Amino acid sequence: MNEKMRRLGEERSAIRELYEYGLRMKELGEENVFDFSLGSPSVPTSESVQREIGRLLKETPPEVLHGYTSAAGLYSAREAVARQLRKTYGAKISAKHVYLTCGAAASLTAAIHALAEAGDEFVVISPYFPEYRVFIEGAGGKCVEANADPRFHLNFSALESAIGKNTKAVVINSPNNPTGAVYTAEEIAELSRLLQRKSREKGNPVYLISDEPYRELTYGAPAPFPAGAYENTLVCYSFSKSLSLAGERIGYIAVNDGCADADALFAAVSGAARSLGFVCAPALFQRVAEKCVGQTADFGAYRSNRKLLTESLAGMGYAVSPPEGAFYLFVKSPEADAKAFSERAKKHGLLLVPSDSFGITGYVRISYCVPEERIRRALPVFRALIAEYVG
Ligand code: PLP
Repeated sequence: MNEKMRRLGEERSAIRELYEYGLRMKELGEENVFDFSLGSPSVPTSESVQREIGRLLKETPPEVLHGYTSAAGLYSAREAVARQLRKTYGAKISAKHVYLTCGAAASLTAAIHALAEAGDEFVVISPYFPEYRVFIEGAGGKCVEANADPRFHLNFSALESAIGKNTKAVVINSPNNPTGAVYTAEEIAELSRLLQRKSREKGNPVYLISDEPYRELTYGAPAPFPAGAYENTLVCYSFSKSLSLAGERIGYIAVNDGCADADALFAAVSGAARSLGFVCAPALFQRVAEKCVGQTADFGAYRSNRKLLTESLAGMGYAVSPPEGAFYLFVKSPEADAKAFSERAKKHGLLLVPSDSFGITGYVRISYCVPEERIRRALPVFRALIAEYVG
């Protein structure tokens, strides 16, 4: 067998490990486990999505509804996605450059495989979504980390040194998992200038892979659309969080029309998806996406959870600042070793992901896309936990 794959299967991700541990603990008593590990949306999908699913099931002949589609997806759905991106962000993206995928994970693997050749480097911003490393190394690339700044925004001197002649792409994720940072328009513009200069120096494009599953989920200004600022961008999107459809596996890659060799790059994306065996995105949900693109589930619960959790934990003495987007709170660990803190939290039934999984030390991630009553019941436990540190 392939030892690298075996290791990946045996190690599992720290997030999944914690989640599985929670499931085992819940068998002993649900009331004593407070699971904040996974980013699986707790709010139901919107009524319009539910209505659309019902309508499709009733009105579309099953052999059509459940049959294969073109590999890149139904053209009408690709058109709907491109239209929404143009209308909302003034993007220059045509339907012929939109490829429907099985969620953001599939978008990322196809985009990375489409670009990676032996020796290529992909720069990620630490802390980062742990699967980036798996996807990059799985495509034969090298994962190069550039630290974020202390507020978890872009750190241009770190990027300056991380991007070199072997850099094929930089991967960004704003709004961010795990930190909740939302990059500003000025930062994106500066990143664009940096990538243009680096591309000139290298004599070849340094691509931007913009991973955007939380695009609509911000608590202040809307997140800027990076493809509008930098031409050589591949947009990786998912309806998992925006429409609470995480288990249905639906998303897309959009290759910016202005990308160098956009048609050839789109062909490489198609070839990558083919070689990875994706065949086509789920047919029913391609049709749902066509009708519901641009809508969101009701994010009100995330907004109030964010406020409740941030204010309560700050009041207890935890070092937190309100996230700007997504649904994660990144909290400084009261001891230097975040793994030890997470283990101690586990003894109280609190499942918090140590930041070591995201490529930095000293923090834990609390996923607050959970029912509010879980947060309320957990607050005394958070208090008891911090009391162990402040005496
Ligand atoms: N990228 C980031 C930053 C994520 O947080 C996630 C999921 O949590 C993904 C990609 C994968 O999303 P999907 O479920 O659509 O594959």
